[in-house]
Amino acid sequence: MRRLALSLILLLFCGAVAAEQVSPSKTATATPPKPAAKPAPKKPAPKSPIARELFGAAPGPAPLAARAIGSYAKGCLAGGVSLPINGPDWQVMRLSRNRNWGTPQLLDFLERLASDARAFDGWPGLLIGDMSQPRGGPMLTGHTSHQVGLDADIWLTPMPDRILTPQEREDMIAESMLKDPFSVDPNIFTLMQVKLIRRAALSPQVARIFVHPAIKKALCQQASQVSKDTSWLGKVRPWWNHHYHFHVRLACPPGMAGCENQKEVSGDNGCGQELTTWYAMIKKAAIEMAKPPVPGAKPWVGKPPLTMAQLPKECGTVLTSGGFEPPIPKEGDVPAALKAMATKDAGPPIPVLTAAQLQALADGADPGGMPLPDRNPKR
Ligand SMILES: [Zn+2]
Repeated sequence: MRRLALSLILLLFCGAVAAEQVSPSKTATATPPKPAAKPAPKKPAPKSPIARELFGAAPGPAPLAARAIGSYAKGCLAGGVSLPINGPDWQVMRLSRNRNWGTPQLLDFLERLASDARAFDGWPGLLIGDMSQPRGGPMLTGHTSHQVGLDADIWLTPMPDRILTPQEREDMIAESMLKDPFSVDPNIFTLMQVKLIRRAALSPQVARIFVHPAIKKALCQQASQVSKDTSWLGKVRPWWNHHYHFHVRLACPPGMAGCENQKEVSGDNGCGQELTTWYAMIKKAAIEMAKPPVPGAKPWVGKPPLTMAQLPKECGTVLTSGGFEPPIPKEGDVPAALKAMATKDAGPPIPVLTAAQLQALADGADPGGMPLPDRNPKR
């Protein structure tokens, strides 16, 4: 019965999507215009279910051919496969999150990166953070992307030379690469990490890599110490929060219908104006974070969560295939298991400015204490 109710809700929205796609010009030429009829009284539009609560509850994959459907931040995953939690040169972290799922292409990529990084760069092994949920889709916590089985977070902490227990994989805190909000700690972020990120970026399957702006800056400064060709830098983009891990995003595998690529990165290496703009943003953020909280201030609320109607039509099938009956959450009700997961944070906090650093910034010091690059170096 519950299933029927949900199927009806999903059908309603899939229908709505299909109806939107009819081209008005074609229908208009077929029939002459009719005299305007009295408009029917408007029924309130039915509410589309919040997608993250449904996808977040799916314990296993959709038994369909493997496909990334939609775009990185608005899609789902059919026929997802799970990365084994232990490999010859990788271990999956935070097993309770059940987010080690992806397309077969993502698994192949990670296994290859793990083995190449060890063989050629001396990186002892990968600690793998979040990939996708078994059926992809939006997550209750932590990410806007990672929805189609083509994104993976990889820790910048080297893998220990023993198999971690499940409990250690829950509790171990990743190490931040930052010494302060604007610069990496050279004792922690070394050429080892530069080589690892470079190795990932060199793969033709990789569309983008996301790192904290301070890590991007360090890469710009150190890339030429690893090899003469630094053209891979263009794929590495600054983003918030990626100070203890880097995020690899694969392009849609060739010929995968319904998988939407992002625009390709430009030829710019991103070490000039883009980095300067990011530094202005993180400076502002660091100053805000150092301020004492204003009593009674409203907490920051992000965008409203995606509804099923906003996802590609096929994601309704992906959600319920194989007989999975997602729970129908009541208004504002988040399943207890998901709520528990939300409290398990994956990483360490970003360092906060000290009073002295804050004063120095106010006096006009450069964030990070070194002059920022203001133009692209000649390549
Ligand atoms: Zn990420």
